[in-house]
Amino acid sequence: MRTLIAANWKMHGDLSWIQKPSEFRALFPAGKDNIEILLCPPAHMLEAMVGASTGLDISVGAQNCHDESSGAYTGELSADMVAETGATYVILGHSERRAIFGDTDNWVAAKTSAAQKAGLRPIVCVGESRAEREAGQAEEVVGAQIDGSIPADARGDNIVIAYEPVWAIGTGLTPTIEDIATIHDHIRGCLTARFGVKGADKIQILYGGSVNPENAQEILALKDVAGALIGGAGLEMKSLAAIAALA
Ligand code: PEP
Repeated sequence: MRTLIAANWKMHGDLSWIQKPSEFRALFPAGKDNIEILLCPPAHMLEAMVGASTGLDISVGAQNCHDESSGAYTGELSADMVAETGATYVILGHSERRAIFGDTDNWVAAKTSAAQKAGLRPIVCVGESRAEREAGQAEEVVGAQIDGSIPADARGDNIVIAYEPVWAIGTGLTPTIEDIATIHDHIRGCLTARFGVKGADKIQILYGGSVNPENAQEILALKDVAGALIGGAGLEMKSLAAIAALA
């Protein structure tokens, strides 16, 4: 299993960014390490980004998809449409989707199933708010999101989970290394309860939330952290390559 270093560009960038895969590879040549690089640009760049990444061993993913295959859903993309661009991943249930666009656990589970059916590998995000952490509810909240957002047929090759504490996203704050280890261990326990040791062990769990070249080494060295989902530091290929070099 390769360590997954994923950049979520959110609503940033323009079509000139399709040179970023080459820029990244100039800084971090392919095959150097056992690392998979994933770029998740805004939807209008997906197809061009897939083209620009071909032959560079860089995967491309979307940031959302709808659970229905077609219909009157203005502004949405189905999982099949995402797959048609050549993208192979999709981020689902990001805290911004949950907070701003009303993605619920049920809806994330439906989107995840649709993505799996379309042959995409969904990255399902979970994480507690600041208030929930301060109330000592982080494990309970994350456990409920795992139970509600992960469909019954999850396997290592058809899902990735990202633990992203909401309060750590874009803030420069991160949980302590012990707290990250505790939640990842808890997620592994929730997965084991549902899918058995063999099934759960193969599911990659990423950490996300203010990962940068200064803190990446310590976080990525944790036993159960199989990669990172990166926002701000993933917009610059220099910092993304620096993080990959530490993985
Ligand atoms: C994110 O939005 O998924 C994220 C982790 O952002 P940042 O790295 O900027 O905290």
